[in-house]
Amino acid sequence: MPIHEYQCGKCGRTFEVLLRSRADSPKQCPKCGAPGPEKIFSVFSATAAKKEAPCASGACAPHKCAGGACPFG
Ligand SMILES: [Zn+2]
Repeated sequence: MPIHEYQCGKCGRTFEVLLRSRADSPKQCPKCGAPGPEKIFSVFSATAAKKEAPCASGACAPHKCAGGACPFG
């Protein structure tokens, strides 16, 4: 079943919602009640997409990345 992740634009709270239909999409933040939480993708995916790490797909050993931009270094 599809689990979608949302983030509140007000308090920054992230939460997952099990969507069986579009009608299940959250209308407000479960923490602060702010309307219109935004759908986001997983943090890992978003981070990986933004960074152009010199080490491909996490093959780099921790603290041994020459580039210094590796998320695992
Ligand atoms: Zn909130």
